[in-house]
This record gives sequence, structure tokens and C-alpha cells, in this order.
Amino acid sequence: MIDPQAVAERVQEIRSDITSITSSNVAIVAVTKTFGHDAIRAAFSAHCDAVGENYTQELLGKAAEAPIELPVHFIGAIQSNKVRQLAPIVAVWQGVDRISVVHELVKRAPGAQILLQVNSTGEASKSGVPPTEVESLLASAVDAGLNVRGLMTIGPTSGNAIEARKAFSSLRSLADSLALPECSMGMSDDYRLAVECGSTMIRIGSRLFGARPSAQ
Ligand SMILES: *Cc1c(COP(=O)(O)O)cnc(C)c1O
Repeated sequence: MIDPQAVAERVQEIRSDITSITSSNVAIVAVTKTFGHDAIRAAFSAHCDAVGENYTQELLGKAAEAPIELPVHFIGAIQSNKVRQLAPIVAVWQGVDRISVVHELVKRAPGAQILLQVNSTGEASKSGVPPTEVESLLASAVDAGLNVRGLMTIGPTSGNAIEARKAFSSLRSLADSLALPECSMGMSDDYRLAVECGSTMIRIGSRLFGARPSAQ
């Protein structure tokens, strides 16, 4: 069960953490994957900026059940054959890391707002385009008319603070060098570090809603 009051308090805590680090605006994307509409409603009441969802079928189910009152960010791996169904629901596609997905978005969601997912830690298990290939993927996406808002990354699995700082700082520098405003980085366990390194958007799940039932 989601306790909306508790969620609002945690959002408040996170907002005050952010203001203690920076005077810049940092958006909170409430990651509602594996939780139901009660989590989405709690995020809305707590004035989160958006909800983040990872799984196509789950998101389609939720959207069919009731309207989603916040902009939906798709933060999972994008399967090209699912883009058509998701297009009416998704406001921002984080996690674009391949030219085939760019082509599918151009067809099904022309002009869509996207973030390019970068593998900033070099871990083989992580999706994302290697930093050296970001510029050419960006050029293709812009040429195709997509609205590239910035970059997105996931911190090191190890949770090591030195590695995390390195990954987040390098993403920020890369975004700056490409004149991209948004840097989506930082999750429940590393958002402070990410904000210190210049995050403009943090993606918070378990810290708002508790442990997820189980990974899908
Ligand atoms: C699940 C997920 C999150 C949220 O993770 P928490 O640790 O629960 O805050 C953020 N970003 C992505 C890409 C995710 O898959």
C-alpha cells in the first residue's frame, strides 16, 4: 500500500536536499514501475514533475485503466515494435541509444522529446551508447527532427562514490560540450552525488514508494 502522506514527506526531503546543494531547478521523475495508480496519484499530489515507467505492457495497462496525470517518461529499453503503441502515452523518451530506435520514433512520434542514454561507466551489462558515439547519434536524431533534450545515464552498479562522481561529471561535460540542457542522472541511492555533478533530472523509485515487489 502506498501512503500518500509519506510519499509527500519524502519528496519534501529530496527537494530540501537539492536546494542545499544547488540553486538550479532539478526535476523529480517518480519511478512508478511495478507500482499501481496509487503511486502515480501520490506522485501527482506530492508535485513530482513526471512519472517514469520501464515496461511497455505494464504502462499500456495503467494508461488503459485511468488517465495518468503527470507527463510519462519512458526510462526503460525501447523496443522498436512497441513505439507505436506507446507514442500516445509517452511525453519523453529517455533511453534512446540506437539509430533503429531513432528511425522508429521519427515514424511513430515525429518531433518527440528524447534523451540519449549514455553508457558512462563502460560496464558491459549497461545499455547506452558509448560516449564516443554520442555526437553522431545526436546528429542523426536532430537531422531526423527529434527534439533531443539531453543525456541520460545510470550510475555504476557498484555504488562506488568515486566511480559515480566520475560517470556523472563526464556526462555533464559531454552534455555541455554538445549544448544539451538536460542531464538525467541520479536514483534513490546516488541522487545527491548526481545533483552535485550537475544533474537536472533525478529518477527516484524505491526512496519514494519502498522496495519494489520484484524485478520483472
Ligand atoms: C528503476 C529505475 C530507477 C529508479 O531506481 P530506484 O533505485 O528505485 O530509485 C531509475 N532509473 C531507471 C533507468 C530505472 O530503471
